[in-house]
Amino acid sequence: MTDMTLYQQLAESIGFGHSKMVPKMFAMIADEDKARFVLAAAPPATVEEIAAKVGLPLDKAKKMAASLFKKGLLFKSKKPGETRYYKLRNFVQFHDGTVLTPGISREYLDMWKEFEEVEMPAYHEAARQAKAKPFMRVIPVNVTVEANPQVMVIDDITKMIDQARIIAVTNCSCRTIKPVPDVPLQVCMQLDKAADYAIDRGTGRELTKAEAIDLVKMCEEVGLVHTAANHRGLGYMICNCDRDSCGNWPDKKYAKSFTAPSRFIALVDPDTCTGCETCVERCFFDAVSMAGEGGTAVIDEEKCMGCGLCEVTCPVDSITLKAIRTEDTIPVE
Ligand code: SF4
Ligand code: SF4
Repeated sequence: MTDMTLYQQLAESIGFGHSKMVPKMFAMIADEDKARFVLAAAPPATVEEIAAKVGLPLDKAKKMAASLFKKGLLFKSKKPGETRYYKLRNFVQFHDGTVLTPGISREYLDMWKEFEEVEMPAYHEAARQAKAKPFMRVIPVNVTVEANPQVMVIDDITKMIDQARIIAVTNCSCRTIKPVPDVPLQVCMQLDKAADYAIDRGTGRELTKAEAIDLVKMCEEVGLVHTAANHRGLGYMICNCDRDSCGNWPDKKYAKSFTAPSRFIALVDPDTCTGCETCVERCFFDAVSMAGEGGTAVIDEEKCMGCGLCEVTCPVDSITLKAIRTEDTIPVE
């Protein structure tokens, strides 16, 4: 009989000790020997130390470490002359790492889909009630925003790309679980160490900076919202999120509880707006209505996430992005 206590320990170690499904999900991708091996990599240890801890011959331990790295359950920290492995540390690593494993089964992905429908809403509601700091943040589209000396890296996707040492593109983990027809899948950009990791693991392809900018523009045209980790600096990834499958807004009514808005909002020039309603269709967050004088568009500041998708396709350039939110809305790293 399967020893579920190992999987329970893994679930607890990523903050999901109360989940009924997370231990089962671990059991789908790691047999008991592998689960023991992963648990033995906390604190970080060399493969020799883990082999001694779990009683495996070194050659088998090396193969197991390589396989668990590919599965997204072990990570590596490299120093000159030494590689240490460490156990996955949080839920995001569990989600993004394991879901993108090359050749992962549909059965495993369907288990994620069920988990998101059955268990995840209670976790989301608890996070919302606790007013937890949003983990992600909207980055506005790649347009010239109003000249502002306080524009930071987190405000400007071109700066993020420019400052990255290396960029890789991977599949979107949310749309890998819930495929969305006609929405591109390979659009999530990993930066610096995260790019090294994705390329090393075989889940990412290196992009030049010009290719990264082209990808950003393509995502804006098809209508995907840029998001990144919610802190000041460069961070480690740029996601391109769709309307319905994205975990960054599980309930769009409370989108700001889960993902911080950018510092910008969209503004409509009522003198040039033709009332075509393209912006209404583009907005994920129901922030645009046609309630302006003469049937022109009006933006609801409370709902606007500052993504700029409406700006990209306005046929008469009636929409601009304006920085309205103050510096103190940006969490400090
Ligand atoms: S897309 Fe532009 S022109 Fe059309 S309704 Fe919106 S603001 Fe007005
Ligand atoms: S109105 Fe909607 S589409 Fe436009 S910037 Fe705000 S959230 Fe984005």
